Amino acid sequence: MLKDGFSRTIDYMRISVTDRCNLRCIYCMPHDIKPVEFKNILTYEEIIRIVRVSVKLGVRKIRLTGGEPLARKNIQYLVKRLKEIEGIEELSMTTNGILLKRYAHELKEAGLDRLNISIDSLDKDKYREITRGGSLERVLQGMELAHSLGISPIKVNTVIIRGVNDSEIEGFAGFTLENPYHVRFIEFMPGKGNHWSKEDVVGIEEIKDRIQERFGVLEPVKRKKTGPSEDFRIKGAQGIVGFIGAVTHGFCKSCNRLRLTADGMLRPCLFSKSMIDLRSPLRNGATDEDIERLLQCAVDIKPQGHTIGVDDDRGSIDLPMSKIGG
Ligand code: SAM
Ligand code: SF4
Repeated sequence: MLKDGFSRTIDYMRISVTDRCNLRCIYCMPHDIKPVEFKNILTYEEIIRIVRVSVKLGVRKIRLTGGEPLARKNIQYLVKRLKEIEGIEELSMTTNGILLKRYAHELKEAGLDRLNISIDSLDKDKYREITRGGSLERVLQGMELAHSLGISPIKVNTVIIRGVNDSEIEGFAGFTLENPYHVRFIEFMPGKGNHWSKEDVVGIEEIKDRIQERFGVLEPVKRKKTGPSEDFRIKGAQGIVGFIGAVTHGFCKSCNRLRLTADGMLRPCLFSKSMIDLRSPLRNGATDEDIERLLQCAVDIKPQGHTIGVDDDRGSIDLPMSKIGG
């Protein structure tokens, strides 16, 4: 079992399968970003090997992210192969959903358990503005299809930024009345090139207050605590609203994850610059035991928490979110 220096059990790995994306969200991806060279992107076989070794050490959940995971060719092959690894209890993906209508059937067949879909506006023009060109209609169609195929529950990730989409908080919460989705409000985090400032962050307490003002007292939803989201339900609603206080509530205490970037760097924390190179050892004959040692090393240097937002700290964020794999 992987235990860090603060008694947290690490059983979850987020894998960025590509740093490339078919959108350019204003808060995530600078439009002039230089992509990682293809030769430095981990192959599927390399990712599968890392996961096999991680599972031996106790990793049980895998999330594929990016960049845009559906933009990587034949991603359904990776889903299928990872799903076949004994010991994986949950395989999920975070996607912008633009290509979901095309891939939903294959993802379901390949064994994908869960989906998070990022939608930051329910207004098609605003959506296009935030994503610099995306089609909301395509995403909603993909989401409905995935839901009808039984990929459940579908979670909608919504990053709220003051002056950009905070006028839609009630609209997103209201979306759960008639729809069985989980809408998760995420605080805006700093990333390289995204011009973050503390004033732009709409804290989850403010979001919650506004929702309660409109819809009445939220009912807490009890669930196995496996992530940073605090979940509630509007009385009588089909779906759930969740709150991820990435900045104001330091979700670090229960952090159970490691991140693997598309170019094979193990990142113990979203906000730490320290990374452990797995790609070079993998390509230079490392044994499984060598990889195990490197995984343990990444866990050993996992910091207790981040200080983003404290005293105006922008953090030591050195990469855009699309490169880290948010
Ligand atoms: N392209 C996929 C998508 O958009 O879902 C997966 C990668 S994206 C980097 C993963 C998640 O990170 C998305 O839900 C996105 O909204 C979130 N994200 C990106 N930049 C962020 C930021 N600065 N603050 C908070 N969340 C952010
Ligand atoms: Fe692409 Fe996702 Fe970043 Fe938007 S949030 S630019 S969809 S990686």
